[in-house]
Amino acid sequence: MDCLFCKIINGEIPSDKVYENDKVYAFRDIAPQAPIHVVIVPKTHIASANDITADNSSAVADIYEAIPEIAKSLGISESGYRIVNNCGKDAGQTVFHIHFHLLGGETGGKMY
Ligand code: 5GP
Ligand code: ZN
Repeated sequence: MDCLFCKIINGEIPSDKVYENDKVYAFRDIAPQAPIHVVIVPKTHIASANDITADNSSAVADIYEAIPEIAKSLGISESGYRIVNNCGKDAGQTVFHIHFHLLGGETGGKMY
């Protein structure tokens, strides 16, 4: 499949990996928007939040279960962080393999 994040997951495209288990892969964003900016993806290909169903929603839980461990390893558990999922054109989604941005290391303020 011609998917950038599938290629990152299978090692075809190199990445700066920060975490991996059997269901989740996390790597540093190539264009960081915060001092710490990690992209967290499920190993299964799901295009966007629009494609979450009762059959595949465990992929989202897998990511949220990994987040405390990833945040701890990055040293931002206590200082805090933001998790962002962009879905579709108006949110600026550019890679259509669902992913969650983990942003931290600065006082970001509230978006909403
Ligand atoms: P989106 O804009 O779809 O929410 O997020 C896609 C993210 O993937 C962007 O923040 C972008 O910087 C990042 N990205 C795009 N291509 C690559 C790449 O080849 N390697 C890494 N590490 N990040 C990438
Ligand atoms: Zn993919």
